[in-house]
Amino acid sequence: MNKRELSESERLRYGRHLVLPKIGEEGQLRLKEAKVLCIGAGGLGSPVLMYLAAAGVGEIGVVDFDLVDQSNLQRQIIHRESDIGTPKIESAAQFIHALNSQTKINLYPDGLKVENALEIIQSYDLVVDATDNFATRYLINDACYLAKKPCIWGSVYRFDGQVSIFCAPEGPCYRCLHPEPPAKELAPNCATGGVFGSLCGTIGSLQATEVIKLITGVGLPLIGSLLTYDALSAETELVHINPNPDCVLCGDRPTQQKLLADYDSFCSISLFNLQDGSIAEIYAPDLSAMKNSATEFQLIDVREVEEWNLGFIDGALLIPQGEIFDGSAFVKISHDRPVVLYCQSGVRSINCAQALLHAGYSQVVSLAGGFQAWDQFTLHV
Ligand SMILES: [Zn+2]
Repeated sequence: MNKRELSESERLRYGRHLVLPKIGEEGQLRLKEAKVLCIGAGGLGSPVLMYLAAAGVGEIGVVDFDLVDQSNLQRQIIHRESDIGTPKIESAAQFIHALNSQTKINLYPDGLKVENALEIIQSYDLVVDATDNFATRYLINDACYLAKKPCIWGSVYRFDGQVSIFCAPEGPCYRCLHPEPPAKELAPNCATGGVFGSLCGTIGSLQATEVIKLITGVGLPLIGSLLTYDALSAETELVHINPNPDCVLCGDRPTQQKLLADYDSFCSISLFNLQDGSIAEIYAPDLSAMKNSATEFQLIDVREVEEWNLGFIDGALLIPQGEIFDGSAFVKISHDRPVVLYCQSGVRSINCAQALLHAGYSQVVSLAGGFQAWDQFTLHV
């Protein structure tokens, strides 16, 4: 039998694809010949792997170093209760094999690292980024660009999801959209901020759809477009993204021509890194992001008790500015955790931050615009 033919059993199995205009037998054969690497076998990776196996993708690589935890089962539907404590790649492989025994599965239990990224990615046609941290996201982007492999990227946080394709020929890379990672204190963290379980199904399924579109050549893939989805309003938006001519990786004069040595330190820039002794300010959305991140910090209201009684930011401690200037408050303020100060409009808190820096505190920022800015911000979210 000619290698490029579907067997009788495959014709039955993929019948609903075969009758689709523009997919047909040629599209199904392309799926059978395709090699897709999925990095992450969690919330996004679960639907991606399930739909790719079901669609008849011939070879699937799964990268994940993590073990299944009870808290994963709320959304990572490729794993079962009986898998708790075992490697995610194993339960993912079992599921894929049970769904489609013809799929060739390659497992990478060490996770993606600088040392293995290019070698692993090299052997695939397409890469799916189904990870949940910035260090791996930049590593995947850089490796995909260098290896010339399109990356189907997805992300979820709380009730919001995003999908796009990076590193495709003529398209932007992730760095074109986000040249730098957020300060580590502002990085969204699903463990503390939460994630709506079924949102992973929506976004992961969109990623699988984009993979199948790229392989079969059907439709308009999300190259140069960012799809955002708000589960609460059920609204989607398609934002155009141009390649950035100043991008360090894919721009006109690239300065980065290989992988970075250490992506963890690249993504560990702190908001509290003091430069030239000036006071760093953060904005209300940053404070909100910090409250939702894994960062432990002290939020201190330096106004007077009369102002506090009219309203304050949840989680704050009231220490009127006089106690900071006379030093009596220092016993209440730890040196070990970052300090965020706020007042009514953002002036007094800068003076207090200066006083704390003089007193030897090293990680201090002031909320720009103070409680007024916070109040305005929370009215609109
Ligand atoms: Zn770029």
